Amino acid sequence: MSPARSAAAAASGGGTLDPVARAGELRAEVAHHNERYHVLDDPEVTDAEYDALVRELRAIEAEHPDLAVPDSPTTRIGAAPSSLFAPVAHHVPMMSLDNAFSPDELQAWADRLAKQVPEDTRFGCELKIDGLAISLLYRDGRFVQAATRGDGTTGEDVTANIATIGAIPHGLDPAAGPPPEVLEVRGEVYMPIRAFEDLNRRQAEAGERLFVNPRNSAAGSLRQKDPSVTAGRALSFWAYQVGEIVPAPTAGGTERLAALAASQSATLDWLGRAGFPVNPEVHLVNGLDEVLAFCARWEEHRHELDYEIDGVVVKVDDLDLQRSLGSTSRAPRWAIAYKFPPEERSTTLLDIEVSVGRTGKVTPFAVLEPVFVGGSTVGLATLHNEDQVGLKDVRPGDTVIVRKAGDVIPEVVGPLRVKGRRRKPAWKFPTVCPECAGPLVRLDGESDTFCTNLDCPGQRVQRIAHFGSRSAMDIEGLGEQRVQLLVDHGLLVDVADLYSFTAETFAGLEGFAAVSTANLLAAIDESRSRPLSRVLIGLGIRHLGQVGSVALARARRDLDGILAADEETLAAIDGVGPVIASSVVAWFTSAVNRSVVERLRAAGLHLEEPGGPVVGPPGLPQTLEGRSVVVTGTLEGYTRETAEGAVLARGGKSPGTVSAKTYAVVAGRAAGVSKVTKAERLGVPVVPGDGFDEFLATGELPEPA
Ligand code: NAD
Repeated sequence: MSPARSAAAAASGGGTLDPVARAGELRAEVAHHNERYHVLDDPEVTDAEYDALVRELRAIEAEHPDLAVPDSPTTRIGAAPSSLFAPVAHHVPMMSLDNAFSPDELQAWADRLAKQVPEDTRFGCELKIDGLAISLLYRDGRFVQAATRGDGTTGEDVTANIATIGAIPHGLDPAAGPPPEVLEVRGEVYMPIRAFEDLNRRQAEAGERLFVNPRNSAAGSLRQKDPSVTAGRALSFWAYQVGEIVPAPTAGGTERLAALAASQSATLDWLGRAGFPVNPEVHLVNGLDEVLAFCARWEEHRHELDYEIDGVVVKVDDLDLQRSLGSTSRAPRWAIAYKFPPEERSTTLLDIEVSVGRTGKVTPFAVLEPVFVGGSTVGLATLHNEDQVGLKDVRPGDTVIVRKAGDVIPEVVGPLRVKGRRRKPAWKFPTVCPECAGPLVRLDGESDTFCTNLDCPGQRVQRIAHFGSRSAMDIEGLGEQRVQLLVDHGLLVDVADLYSFTAETFAGLEGFAAVSTANLLAAIDESRSRPLSRVLIGLGIRHLGQVGSVALARARRDLDGILAADEETLAAIDGVGPVIASSVVAWFTSAVNRSVVERLRAAGLHLEEPGGPVVGPPGLPQTLEGRSVVVTGTLEGYTRETAEGAVLARGGKSPGTVSAKTYAVVAGRAAGVSKVTKAERLGVPVVPGDGFDEFLATGELPEPA
């Protein structure tokens, strides 16, 4: 069996039962995946699947100690260095870490340790940065060499590439005292999420293959023959350890380097003074309860960081204790990595299908063998557009990586390329609409494909369901399935038809019992009183979202006010602008659209905008009355639209650009650099994403940092 196929079998619990044969099989597989991951930067399985193989092998070896062999991958570190780079010997071995995958496993580690360390032993909790380990050598305070971890004893010389990383100092800061003759600093090179997203954007523009995740792109970017490639990749670095030091400092000594012999926390402080970036989220704790609390906190908040972490590293703080605890052949006994549950899993891509949206946009999506990942079971995932399918090069039948991080929408990251496995031909975007068989059109220079048939039943269903949705007319009981049924029966052609419904309309239709019919009719009736802005949202005019609809309705007061205004007048409205104005004018110029609107008016819709707030529950305190608040980046618990809507609901405005008049910029995760920089330049306060709720509640700006 090929290593990869056997990996899949093992992952699904289908390995050989004979422990001798199975252990041999697993060793071959783990060695194979180590090479793909550490040397080729092109893994064939996800980390969780790799970890499962190692755990299975460890379990067999623990149960049958006679089967353990000295060169088993369970006793080794990484993989032999590649011949692409000159070898570098590590005078102090670069170790791996043992893993705990649950609080119970962490407890078992602490229990073992408790037999050898005093009760009041302190632990340093550090974030486990998902990058790659690097060793940096400084002679007399000057950077002279950098090496990867390799197999722990010999690494690869990547000095020229590391020299391009701005975060890594070329010399030790004299503030830390006179430098030792030799100092080896260790840490993690990583790619910030924003840099990763930018890199993939550039790859997409150039039609190049996308990178799978920040860890993989950091490793691929660093292990380049040409350092100028590394230079263009925005890598960064956190220092977390010291390796070789000559002359060796003495604990309790009077020399300034004594910190490096005292404790992990003192070492980190010293590294910071010497000019190295040290991760700020380090926490020194007493006892396992506090360790567990730190792990739980970061498992929940990991997505608020601009870099990926895959767990927490727990370290005995006292270096004397570390020395007395020692190491196994591959990992120290004084540290453990608590690994978070995986957010990436592999599964089979059963098929690629397309769906038609209300604007006619046709979106491809992946039909997956359901897989439990990131806290839920994922069976479908969007593939965005034709180019994305091509760039990711995913094909039906492929084994693909599915990623679901926190609340983020699940994503197909890319195929796992298994050497020698036959693939189906590349998927082709359909040429006709799956709903109406009309031709599909993709304009030059655009990435989206459209069904241009306005009578397409697929579009109609989506348009009407959108009209009834919560953010628009909020018609309870008018879900997509019901709309589909009514469209299929020819009872619903456009949104104005809703207002001519009576109980008789639904006679004989499945799913329309007397009570639910009465409720639906009441909900439709109630929607007649919605303000104009909600009607505008419901009409689904291109580019006109929640913010633009409210701005337009407030400025023009009623439908006739909008109809009477020319494009220029509409464009001048704060929050509207030329793109929306042109789209609104074009929409109302269509005779078909005008007739729908007139029928809505005749059906008794108000089509007026009362003064005051219109979005969100009535009576919210107007904490942002008349103030401009720009929202950028991802805010937990909000989409862009709901965040801007929340500002409007508190009486504020939410324009897309920062100016001197802006009251505040709310910056969530991966916030736009240009907006934040401009705010700083103009002296506009920046509210951090996690302070948004309080800001809404009080309207008060945070104290300047
Ligand atoms: P590891 O990643 O579990 O832990 C050791 C590493 O953690 C260190 O070498 C260091 O680079 C890093 N680290 C990050 N933050 C740290 C901190 N604050 N302090 C100390 N170290 C820190 O072990 P490993 O030996 O590097 O790699 C094994 C792991 O790599 C596996 O568990 C798996 O996740 C992945 N892997 C995947 C494949 C695959 O095919 N998908 C193959 C091999 C390895």
